[in-house]
Amino acid sequence: EGVATVIDGKAVAKKIRDEITVEVSRMKESIGVVPGLAVILVGDRKDSATYVRNKKKACDSVGIKSFEVCVAEDSSEEEVLRSVSGFNDDPSVHGILVQLPLPSHMDEQNILNAVSIEKDVDGFHPLNIGRLAMRGREPLFVPCTPKGCIELLHRYNIGIKGKRAVVIGRSNIVGMPAALLLQREDATVTIIHSRTKNPEEITREADIIISAVGQANMVRGSWIKPGAVIIDVGINPVEDSSAARGYRLVGDICYEEASKVASAITPVPGGVGPMTIAMLLSNTLKSAKRIHNFQ
Ligand code: NDP
Repeated sequence: EGVATVIDGKAVAKKIRDEITVEVSRMKESIGVVPGLAVILVGDRKDSATYVRNKKKACDSVGIKSFEVCVAEDSSEEEVLRSVSGFNDDPSVHGILVQLPLPSHMDEQNILNAVSIEKDVDGFHPLNIGRLAMRGREPLFVPCTPKGCIELLHRYNIGIKGKRAVVIGRSNIVGMPAALLLQREDATVTIIHSRTKNPEEITREADIIISAVGQANMVRGSWIKPGAVIIDVGINPVEDSSAARGYRLVGDICYEEASKVASAITPVPGGVGPMTIAMLLSNTLKSAKRIHNFQ
């Protein structure tokens, strides 16, 4: 019975943040420019407010300047578009992020289209996604969560080329770009979604599984080929009366079972989650360097 290597996303993210801190101060000292990230929070979802607060804290910790705008739930789409366009024109802002989801009366497409692709550090602009999908094209930015998944594989020296990879989930923000990234790295990729029949037969063929579903413990040990590498993006609350808040967070993968079969696995929490924010900071630094032509 094997015991999987635990892929420590928290530690890797810390290392990346340290690398970014060094680069931010080198940039400041050499050309007097501090990278800036603008975050637009629309409405009063508590989870979104928490994400925005964490992003701001992360910016502070590496020396990136953060700008925050809160737009009321009942505001018009035009109001959000005005904030976006203000940040598009602001030279001290190098990255713009609109926290999703937006209130239902707003058109997410319109708003994401309005973000300058030069400042699209979330990588959600259709031009950036389109370039990600095309051979021979380079997106300016790649979405943070899938980029974090690939970065974990790289930092643990896990080969991707020629491997069979399975992505569970096909959302615009995680599953779809994760599959595109794996394909760019020369994996052979299969995507599983809610209409897939017998998903366990497909996952059993996989050398690498990236799961972004949102179903607690859906992937059982029996779904996994011995020695496979598991990247679990899912963050799912499950009731737990022994926890202070009455719940705890688990992934899409049944960790207890999977860690006995896989060769390496990300925990939840402490796996992909911290990497997402690290990649956001990295994209913001990259953008500032690109705009100011600083190497
Ligand atoms: P979405 O709800 O947008 O997408 C879920 C995907 O999973 C869909 O493609 C859906 O299929 C598929 N799916 C749902 N049920 C099943 C099933 N039973 N079998 C197979 N596929 C299924 O979620 P997100 O991509 O936004 O997020 C996924 C998870 O990742 C969530 O738990 C979320 O909290 C977490 N997350 C974590 C982040 C991090 O930083 N670690 C960042 C973002 C998300 P279909 O397309 O057919 O509907």
